[in-house]
Amino acid sequence: KPRIYSGMQPSSGSLHLGNYVGALMQWRELQAEGEAFFSIVDLHALTSAKDPKVLRQQVRTLAAQYIAGGIDPEASCLYVQSHVAAHSQMAWLLSTITGFGEASRMTQFKDKSAKEGVEAANVGLFTYPILMAGDILLYDTDLVPVGGDQKQHVELTRDLAERFNKRFGKTFRVPKPHILGETARIMDLQDPTRKMSKSAETDKGIIWLLDEPGKTVKKIKSAVTDTDGSIRVDAENKPGVTNLLGILSAFTGRPIDDLVAEFDGQGYGAFKGAVAEAVIDELSPIRDRTLDLLDDPAELDRILDANAERASAVADATLDRAMVAMGLR
Ligand code: ATP
Ligand code: MG
Repeated sequence: KPRIYSGMQPSSGSLHLGNYVGALMQWRELQAEGEAFFSIVDLHALTSAKDPKVLRQQVRTLAAQYIAGGIDPEASCLYVQSHVAAHSQMAWLLSTITGFGEASRMTQFKDKSAKEGVEAANVGLFTYPILMAGDILLYDTDLVPVGGDQKQHVELTRDLAERFNKRFGKTFRVPKPHILGETARIMDLQDPTRKMSKSAETDKGIIWLLDEPGKTVKKIKSAVTDTDGSIRVDAENKPGVTNLLGILSAFTGRPIDDLVAEFDGQGYGAFKGAVAEAVIDELSPIRDRTLDLLDDPAELDRILDANAERASAVADATLDRAMVAMGLR
């Protein structure tokens, strides 16, 4: 059975539709195919300043959303990164075999530091990919399901694993990225040329999983489309309609061609109504279940504690192997 590893940052008060379709739905499918570790990567979230109280709440909310969204915390190991000390320790070891130039080539750092300038960026944002490499390698991971934006980081992870094995003897399993398809990429409803993102300036075009159903319907009905009236895939000229077709396909499991055959000619109103209904049908129960889980934080913490122990057992053994290989301990 392959080991599977992935994680999301607790960097907002709720997951959005893009995270759900692009990550959580795919994880749910994959968890039956291997031994999966799904992490709430709170150490990564520290790379952008957080109010401590808010961060703690966001960690619980994300845990509840993983479970409500179908991650089974008995079958898969669903844990919080900072509960497993080996992550920080492994990051240090790996940082000593990472080239400064190599780290400087990571495009996510360039993108995320561009806004305020490199001088203002924190060093954690720069070393983020090394922490992420450690996350993956600690669990002898075979497969890392990620969006295309994370591919470069998984390549770095592979390079570091191979370099370490060559220098210090076989220690790490070399993982492969499992890149989730472009079709799973959801765009902002108000600006469908940009991906739906937690860090967008306004959330008018973002569907949060914890939004009230009425709000979700309103956001979908006011999604930006175009004036030509036809319903078909054309990312260039009709990004809004193309995005809504992708969403409807993801939520109904029906191929896009089918949907086009059914809805073309019906007008955008009816089409948007169908999209809203499909989204609400699936997300409402998940929202309810999330709120229920958050009503019992002690039970949630019990689950997270138990899983942190399971994760530590695996991670500590790998860390120990790496330290001994390097001449420590
Ligand atoms: P940020 O803007 O801060 O990077 P994000 O919205 O991209 O936030 P992440 O925490 O970076 O969220 O991503 C979590 C997971 O969700 C990743 O696997 C990522 O590939 C996926 N994901 C994020 N946005 C989308 C989207 N619009 N469509 C599909 N998948 C997405
Ligand atoms: Mg992102």
